[in-house]
Amino acid sequence: MAKRDYYEVLGLSKGASAAEIKKAYRKKAIEYHPDKNPDNKEAETKFKEAAEAYEVLSNADKKARYDQFGHQAFENGGGFGGGGMNMDDIFSQFGDIFGGGFGGGFSGFGGGGGQRRAKGSNLRIRVKLTLEEIANGVEKKIKVKRKVKAPGTTYKTCATCHGTGQVTRIANTILGRMQTSAPCNVCGGAGETIDKKPADADAQGLKIAEDTVTIKIPAGVVDGMQLKVSGKGNEAPGNGISGDIIVVIEEEHNDKLQREGDNLHYDLYVSYPEAVLGASKEIETVTGKVRIKIESGVQSGKILRLRGKGIPNINGYGRGDLLVHVNVWTPKTLNKQQREFFENMLDDEHFSPKPESSDKSFFEKVKDMFS
Ligand SMILES: [Zn+2]
Repeated sequence: MAKRDYYEVLGLSKGASAAEIKKAYRKKAIEYHPDKNPDNKEAETKFKEAAEAYEVLSNADKKARYDQFGHQAFENGGGFGGGGMNMDDIFSQFGDIFGGGFGGGFSGFGGGGGQRRAKGSNLRIRVKLTLEEIANGVEKKIKVKRKVKAPGTTYKTCATCHGTGQVTRIANTILGRMQTSAPCNVCGGAGETIDKKPADADAQGLKIAEDTVTIKIPAGVVDGMQLKVSGKGNEAPGNGISGDIIVVIEEEHNDKLQREGDNLHYDLYVSYPEAVLGASKEIETVTGKVRIKIESGVQSGKILRLRGKGIPNINGYGRGDLLVHVNVWTPKTLNKQQREFFENMLDDEHFSPKPESSDKSFFEKVKDMFS
């Protein structure tokens, strides 16, 4: 398979500046990041391809060699072999490209090609959150049962692969001597096997332990969203790396507030006299209580928009609004005196509907809201 030109991989032309190379790679890394493209082999390949291109083009010396000799510059020694870069190397680049602090949030999948370390399996847990917790962000302490290395387990270098995790076979074929390598089936690619283990440990020298994990949930998460807590899943035997915890967000039903994206809807009921005379009403929002003024003569179906009283956007694009829907409560039973009053008002000028353009119909209001 012909290797693609590194500039082409990053969507650049030859002579691109260091800043342009960095910017282009950042874009590709976000686009093809494995967290965004789970179980997508094509994205993984493109992700690695972009990382390899950046590895060369971001290094003045390697870039000069590549500009002069192309891919041949790295054919013998110092190259990437057949397997390309491994995931851990790629993620270690991210400090440079995204500025520190990103390391913990992003994680790889335990090495794709080339040299690999065993990785513990992931744990999936569901976390139920109230709308208030979603609006404000929350820290949850969760009890999990995870596999950990059993104390007293010792490891020794695998005798079959001598710690490399790979076994190489030479086969004679009509095309000549072919060298192939595959993960060692004695140690499963870990490079180590168990020397001694306590009685309560499983075949891998692991045992189940209960652990409390603190999970920081940012404001604005959405039902069904998955967050990854790197390295808090099952441990791997030997020098392997721990798996992750996949946190699946579940939004609890709220009786009063309906969520629609980052906006919230609230049904407010006012009495007939309140609608006629005006009123001041208290509303429970996700950030506490708010007092709102109902103008005298308010019409049923009016929508009051409280800017910024909704849910913060998960990607940092501001905050949604709280839309208060006014419903005028019509009395269902009346006493004699009240009935007489309304009977007298049947032909009264003040009680006959005279909608103005500001008293838009429901459909016009909905249209406005989404335009
Ligand atoms: Zn081995």
